[in-house]
Amino acid sequence: MKFSYRCTDCGLSLEIKPNVQLCPACSSSGQPDKPLKGVLETVCEGTPDASPFDETVDFIHQLLPVEKKYFPSIPVGMTPLWEPENLRKRLNLKNLFIKDDTLNPTGSLKDRASFLVAAFARKYKITDIVVASTGNAASSMAGIGAAAGLNVKIFIPSSAPKAKMVQALQYGADVTLVDGTYDLAFEKSIEYTNKYGGMNRNTAYNPLTLEGKKTAALEVFAQMRRVPDHVFVPVGDGVILGGLYRGFIDLFEKGYTDKIPVIHSVQAEGSSAINRALAGGGFTAPVKSDTIADSISVDIPRNGYYAVNMLKKYSGTGVTVTDKEILEAQKTLASSTGLFAEPSSASALAGLLKIRDSIDDNAYTALIVTGNGLKDIDGAMRALKMEGEKLA
Ligand SMILES: *Cc1c(COP(=O)(O)O)cnc(C)c1O
Repeated sequence: MKFSYRCTDCGLSLEIKPNVQLCPACSSSGQPDKPLKGVLETVCEGTPDASPFDETVDFIHQLLPVEKKYFPSIPVGMTPLWEPENLRKRLNLKNLFIKDDTLNPTGSLKDRASFLVAAFARKYKITDIVVASTGNAASSMAGIGAAAGLNVKIFIPSSAPKAKMVQALQYGADVTLVDGTYDLAFEKSIEYTNKYGGMNRNTAYNPLTLEGKKTAALEVFAQMRRVPDHVFVPVGDGVILGGLYRGFIDLFEKGYTDKIPVIHSVQAEGSSAINRALAGGGFTAPVKSDTIADSISVDIPRNGYYAVNMLKKYSGTGVTVTDKEILEAQKTLASSTGLFAEPSSASALAGLLKIRDSIDDNAYTALIVTGNGLKDIDGAMRALKMEGEKLA
């Protein structure tokens, strides 16, 4: 297998090595209040000799640009894809599946990206990682970094849910609280890396984040033994969405399937830049994000251009949901399946509930549940209070 980076804007091919983050030509045309220009995707040439079904772990590793021996021993990915019987009945969706990524070591899908970043760092003897985050990317990098023996420096908004901060501190990361938004934390982390060095893991900015997240798509394919018809995914910066497309495109290009699923980008009403851009008009000046779903709360979606291009190319849709719908979906998911997800993750179900009528009863549908509910107790408390009001 042969791997290289390709610019998602101009198509330039680049060697995969440290300090290659964005396309040098395109990134300079980026504007500070717009998504990043020159985001790099990973291209893999060749056909794996492992089967996607029988030796899934080997198959997935063959499609990743870092050799298996460099990955830390902590078990990331290979999360269950399961059949939620009550929810299937309730929605009359016979082939509904949950991809439970809350079961990753630090409780979110972000571990898939951190895992690849950590392996890359070990391969190139990089010891320091820097990351800005709404909370999960930071706690994830801290945890996976701990397993890999890396020093992790994180920048998170002081408003981030406490549990995510506590996780990062327990894992031994150096935590800087930023008095402002995630977007400010993003800037500060890049300034820090430029000044002090280390590898920056910021989402989309570091191409390995997009690549690492594609493993979720490869697993869904192996576990379902087919490409789903519909996938619902919560979207903030658009890197999970982009990573899912990357995985399905790999499968398509290597001839394992002739189908790319319809991916539904679910965003909170108070943080919906990608869905607004998809609906028309492109990316306008940033709107200050305001949603209870902190993990998908971003003013400027870093991977916005790529996400919108993919959604257009493969007939994906944008589904925008209110905080009330998100909290109701959180309770519905927990009480009907036993899976307690954080608000951002529950938004995937909120999106499905919103457009249920447009989906065939027999369609193979996957909900990507991205983060554990215990990561944000305050948000969940609000949902319970809301319900109390309704009962009173
Ligand atoms: C980061 C995150 C998302 C959104 O992913 P993007 O790549 O920013 O779109 C969704 N859910 C959870 C739990 C997350 O941590």
